[in-house]
Amino acid sequence: MNDCIFCKIIQGEIPGRKIYEDDDMLAFHDIGPQAPVHFLLIPKRHITSIMETGDEDALLIGRLLVKAQELAKESGCGEKGARFVINCKEDGGQTVDHLHIHVLGGRPLAWPPG
Ligand code: AMP
Ligand code: ZN
Repeated sequence: MNDCIFCKIIQGEIPGRKIYEDDDMLAFHDIGPQAPVHFLLIPKRHITSIMETGDEDALLIGRLLVKAQELAKESGCGEKGARFVINCKEDGGQTVDHLHIHVLGGRPLAWPPG
């Protein structure tokens, strides 16, 4: 998708502070961190949101979640934990239409969301 900012980060057209990359996924620091640890993990394939996935995506989604918790531990969240968030569409607060998992940690996080 030409006008997708996350696809542009994947393709190196705009900068991203990368944490992890393999053939299928990329992790990078959120540009507006909401916690001491705040990074995003995205599939390299453009998927608009978690609500546009199906059985054929199950392995990829599972691998994203496994990698998200590995990277959370590597970021120092292993003992106290972290939050893994997938915002979806308007009511979910999604502002970038390329599936992404937020990983937040490094401080206690309030619940429920406002
Ligand atoms: P969401 O509101 O769940 O769609 O989250 C989108 C996130 O992407 C926000 O937390 C933004 O701060 C973050 N973001 C937007 N543009 C960039 C960028 N160029 N590099 C890193 N993070 C970004
Ligand atoms: Zn994209």
